[in-house]
Amino acid sequence: MLQSKSFVKKTKQGKVVKVVREHYLRDDIYCGAPFCKVCDVAAARLGSSASTIIIADTNVVLHQIDLLENPAIDDVVVLSVVLEEVKNKNLSVYNRLRALCSNPQRRFFVFSNEYHKDTYVKIESGETPNDRNDRAIRVAAQWYQNHLGGAVKVLLITNDRENKKKAIQDGIPAETVESYVKSLGQPALLDVIVQPPSEDVTMEDAEDLRPSKRKTIYPEHKPMSEIISGLHRGIYHQGKLRVNRYNPFEAYVGVKVLEMKLLSTGAQT
Ligand SMILES: [Zn+2]
Repeated sequence: MLQSKSFVKKTKQGKVVKVVREHYLRDDIYCGAPFCKVCDVAAARLGSSASTIIIADTNVVLHQIDLLENPAIDDVVVLSVVLEEVKNKNLSVYNRLRALCSNPQRRFFVFSNEYHKDTYVKIESGETPNDRNDRAIRVAAQWYQNHLGGAVKVLLITNDRENKKKAIQDGIPAETVESYVKSLGQPALLDVIVQPPSEDVTMEDAEDLRPSKRKTIYPEHKPMSEIISGLHRGIYHQGKLRVNRYNPFEAYVGVKVLEMKLLSTGAQT
């Protein structure tokens, strides 16, 4: 099956040319589950007795790669739409994810949802690329659910409230990172979760950091990926902002590691 997209563009020399992009859709992309009755299972990488197959959205991969690298997390389907988004946002996380996918000790399977005839989705009019990609993730999760029947639970992990809500409406089980990790009953894993920079923001409220969904109150000082890697490397420290109730222009940030309080004065409007 062939999907083609054509558009007209002007060259540097001022000529107007028609560009046709062809996107081939295939029906021989397999699901990666060794117990599947339909697919070729020679290249299957998921566990033969997996009870849950995890599909993580892009932001979960970008922020929780430490968690994904933990051996407690396995039987993960990495969608090609997620892989592409991660590649464009953070090459270091992308390389770590690819390493997981090629590690024979781990059960991470890359599913080319963007090339599968049943999971490719076209962008709808008025839809942002991010919303289209979130929909592609939900469509792929639903495909897995229908494809594998009741043999296994397919779980979408997302901290994007809207994505989670829509998934549940579509009948796809969906959980936040925190609630999924809590359900595993391994408290030590909770320490591996990267919390959003402000302690006042719960995981449920974590912002979607991709451009069109960003709700900017103040401009960011640093990109989120840099902040997270800086926190890990000990370059940055995280603390709770406590504003003086009598003077809103004075605030403290308590930083445990440094055993000190940082005084901040002034305000930004
Ligand atoms: Zn299959």
